[in-house]
Amino acid sequence: MRVSNMFIPTLREVPAEAEIASHKLMLRAGLMRKLASGIYSFLPMGYRVFRKVEQIVREEMDRAGAQELIMSALLPAEAYQASGRWEVFGAEMFRLKDRGGREFCLGPTHEEIFTETVKNETRSYRSLPLTLYQIQTKYRDERRPRFGVMRSREFVMKDAYSFDRDEANLDISYKKMYEAYCKIFDRCGLDYIVVDADTGAMGGSGSQEFMVKSSIGESGIAYCNACGYAANDEKAECIPENCCCGQKEACCEQLEYEKVATPNARTIEELMEFFKCDAKEFAKTLIYKADDKIVAVMVRGDRELNETKLQNTLGCIELEMADAETVKKVTGADVGFAGPVGINVDTIVDLEVAGMKNFVTGANETGFHYKNINIDRDFKATKVADIRTICEGDKCPKCGAPVKVELGIEVGHIFKLGTKYTQALNCIYLDENGKENPMVMGCYGIGINRTMAAIIEQNNDDNGIIWPMSVAPYHVIVVPVNTGDELQMELAQKIYSELMEAGVEVLLDDRNERPGVKFKDADLIGIPVRITVGKKAAEGIVEYKLRSKSEFSDMSVEEAISSAKSEVGK
Ligand SMILES: [Zn+2]
Repeated sequence: MRVSNMFIPTLREVPAEAEIASHKLMLRAGLMRKLASGIYSFLPMGYRVFRKVEQIVREEMDRAGAQELIMSALLPAEAYQASGRWEVFGAEMFRLKDRGGREFCLGPTHEEIFTETVKNETRSYRSLPLTLYQIQTKYRDERRPRFGVMRSREFVMKDAYSFDRDEANLDISYKKMYEAYCKIFDRCGLDYIVVDADTGAMGGSGSQEFMVKSSIGESGIAYCNACGYAANDEKAECIPENCCCGQKEACCEQLEYEKVATPNARTIEELMEFFKCDAKEFAKTLIYKADDKIVAVMVRGDRELNETKLQNTLGCIELEMADAETVKKVTGADVGFAGPVGINVDTIVDLEVAGMKNFVTGANETGFHYKNINIDRDFKATKVADIRTICEGDKCPKCGAPVKVELGIEVGHIFKLGTKYTQALNCIYLDENGKENPMVMGCYGIGINRTMAAIIEQNNDDNGIIWPMSVAPYHVIVVPVNTGDELQMELAQKIYSELMEAGVEVLLDDRNERPGVKFKDADLIGIPVRITVGKKAAEGIVEYKLRSKSEFSDMSVEEAISSAKSEVGK
C-alpha cells in the first residue's frame, strides 16, 4: 500500500482524555477514534491489527477442535429470564423493546443462547463432546468506561462453550482450551500469568484468568514464588494476621471501653496521629447499600475491603457505598464516625477483625470514637467472612510464604460452569441406557480489543508502538528520503514490489514529506522493519532498521530484502 493514499490520521498531540499508553497510542497512531463514552470505531490501521489478533484466536480454536458459528447480538429476554441473569446483570445490561413490546437485550455474553441452541438440536451422548465458539460483538453498560478499549461498552469477544457428558470430560475440554489460550497469547507476544479466579455471578466449579502483568491493570494478581500459587485478588484467600501481641490465639486481656472525643479526626491517618497508634489497631466500619439493604462492613484500619468478596458473601446483585445522607441516617453521625456498637443494621466482619482485641472504632456520634472495643462483648457480627483484599507480604494461603501482588489486565477467562445453565434451561442428553442427564458446560472468553490494547501496553516506547510481527498492521515500511529523486523512488519501488511479491505486507511511504515526519509516523504506528532509501541509492545501498532496536545498518538492496523476508518469516 502507498501511504499517500491511506487513511492514517496520526496525531502529534497526546489526547487529553487518554490516561494510559495503549489508549493514547491507539488514538495518536490513528488506529481508532471515539464515538461516545466507551464506544470506538477502528480505523484501517487498527482494524488490520484487530483482524490479526482475531485470526490467531480463530486458528488456535479451530486447532483445538472448536467449531465457529455466529449468533445475533440482539437477544430475546426469555432465556436470560429462565437462567435468572435478566436480574443478575442489573444496570450493566443494555435492554430494549421491539415495536410489539417484546423485551430484548444487546448480548453481554451468550451462555443462555448457546445452551438453547444445543438443547434444541442435540439429544444423544454420541454428539458429545461439543465445543462451539463465535467472535462477536458484546455490549455492557459499564458504570465507568475507561482506558479506551480496555474497559469499553462495546467490545468483541471470542466466546466458546463446551458441552460434555460429565465433569471428567469437562476437565478434558477445559484443558484443551487452556492449552489453546497459552498458544494464542504466546503468538500475540504477551507476557502473561494464569491465575485462579472468582466464579462470582457466573456460578460454577472452577475458573482461571489469563492476566497480562501491567502497572495499569485493574485487577490485582497475588502469586507465590515458593509454591506457584497464583490467584486474582477477588479470589485470593487472606490468612488473618496474628493478634497484636503476636500470638496465634487472641490472648490480650479485654479492657474497658471508653468514648473519646476526636473532633478533628475521621480518617485513619488523622486517627493514627490522634491516638498515637498504628492503623492495625483500628477497625474501619463502612456503610454499603447491597441491593435495597443497608449493611455495615468492618475491616482492619490498614486493609482494603474487597467488594467482590463482600458481594459473594452477601449474595447481592448491586453493591455500592452508601451516600453521606444514608450514613447519617444509619449511624446518626457524619461520615468518618461509623462503628459497630449499637448500629441497627447487619454487620459483616472481616475474619481478621474477628481476631482483634481492644480496637478503635467510630462511636456513631459525630466527633467521637470508642477505644478498647471487643467483638462479642460490645457488638455482635451478623457474619464473619474473608472480605478484604490480599496485600503484598501476606501469607500464601497454600504454603505460608509471603505473597507478591502485582496489577494485571485480564485478557482471557476460562470457566467450568458445570450444570448451572443446562439445568436451568433443561439442556439434557440421553446416555447409552436412555437415561436423561444434564450436559456439563464450560465457557471460555477472550477480549479481542483488550488483547490488542494489552499488546500495546507491553510493547511501546516514547516514540510509539512496537508491534510484534505476528499482529503488526504491516510488516515492512519502505521510506524514500526524497520523493523528488527519481533514483531513490525507483529503488524504493523495486524493494516494495519484490517484498510484496514474496507475500510480505509492505508500505511505501511515497508522501512528499520531510524524512523526519515519515520516520516519526513509522515509529508511532510501530511497523517492525523500516528500509530507508537515501543518498546511497546510486550505489544500491539502503538503511535497514528494526523498530525494536535502536541501531541501524547500511545494506545492499538484496541483503535488505532477504533480511526483511526472514524477519517476517517468508
Ligand atoms: Zn505459596
